[in-house]
Amino acid sequence: MRYFSTRDTKNDKSFFSLKEAAIKGLAPDGGLFMPEYIPQADMKIVEDLYKKSYSEMALYLAGLFFGDDIEPQKLEKAVKSAYDFPIRLNSLDENTNTLELFHGPTYAFKDFGARFMGQIMGILNDSDEVIVLTATSGDTGSAVANGFYNVKGVKVVVLYPADKISPLQESQMTTLHENIYPLKVNGTFDDCQRMVKSMFADENLRKKINITSANSINILRWIPQAFYYFYGVYAWRELTGEEAPEVVVPSGNYGNLTAGMLARKMGLPIKGFVAASNANDVIPEFLKSAEYHPRASVQTVANAMDVGAPSNYERMMSLCNNQIEELRKEMRGFSASDEKIIETIKAVDEKYNYLSCPHSAVGYAATKELGVEGFWLSTAHAAKFGEVTEKATGKKPELPEKMKKMLAAEKVFTKIEADNEELKKYLLGV
Ligand SMILES: *Cc1c(COP(=O)(O)O)cnc(C)c1O
Repeated sequence: MRYFSTRDTKNDKSFFSLKEAAIKGLAPDGGLFMPEYIPQADMKIVEDLYKKSYSEMALYLAGLFFGDDIEPQKLEKAVKSAYDFPIRLNSLDENTNTLELFHGPTYAFKDFGARFMGQIMGILNDSDEVIVLTATSGDTGSAVANGFYNVKGVKVVVLYPADKISPLQESQMTTLHENIYPLKVNGTFDDCQRMVKSMFADENLRKKINITSANSINILRWIPQAFYYFYGVYAWRELTGEEAPEVVVPSGNYGNLTAGMLARKMGLPIKGFVAASNANDVIPEFLKSAEYHPRASVQTVANAMDVGAPSNYERMMSLCNNQIEELRKEMRGFSASDEKIIETIKAVDEKYNYLSCPHSAVGYAATKELGVEGFWLSTAHAAKFGEVTEKATGKKPELPEKMKKMLAAEKVFTKIEADNEELKKYLLGV
């Protein structure tokens, strides 16, 4: 399988190998990578495998994309190590079902992409040493650190703003040790991002060390996110006896939703999607007006979805041939204010004695207000956003055992100033 850029509109496209696409992350023209063609999945095979285990089903689907590039035994080992945690369709009542994607090591759906990427990069990387350099405002860093934990030949350097992330998020990055190097930056998230960008732009530095990014648009994080839709749809079909669900996707950067579009194009029976946002409603607005107006993000209680200029917009348009009419056939939009989100968390708890994280609550609100026949994706564990849940319900979500242990474990990090030279010196010595 080869990959091309969403910005490459030539008939005679430039193609990149899996390894090039994975290591570059972003195409040289600034576009996002897309697979050369979309493989069709055999639904009989999927239906059999989904009952066996998630990892066996995922292995079959991964083979359709990566089978030519990676030896079968290696791919099998990678997929099994990536997916050693549960997934489930939780039925709150007959018409109220959610696909819980938060049972992985960092308690959010990003584990599905980041752990897959970590394992596959371990196979593709034949240099002695590569540094995965990334900046985080919280969730991405912990998923990436976990995904690359103990992957051979890889060091992860992750920058985060001091005192601007939650204690739990900090613990998730600083208690792993081994090949994970957390840098606590005396500055903001924007400082962290600026510093990382300047390292990638520094030709001199790049001659001396091998650096790569692991951000959420990477093809190795994006494609495996298509796989859990197969699980969700087959579990829902078994539960309801219906043919094809509508799927509600709480969204920010739209990697998750566009991966769902990919799954549908692989042949998975999905009636359509709901693009469910918080107050950062650029995509729902775009669906209404046909005009795309990216803008600065506003802060909400569902902060992992605070994105005003979603990077996967280009993938979304590429998947519908740049036609808004096609996109409208594929999905409808929904957005929820902070008030609505808080109200929803409370209502779900009262009705079902079930605690939702603020992002997943947007999914529930859309499901009920739009009369969705299908399910919504639950993207994070309520305890990860405990303050919001507590504010809404008066209850503190019970922390899973592993989370408690992590919070109590020793944190190891290096403090640095928001200064390019200091980061450069660190990278040369790590
Ligand atoms: C990242 C994230 C989202 C948004 O997913 P996108 O793929 O960026 O649309 C939603 N919920 C949680 C908990 C997240 O961490």
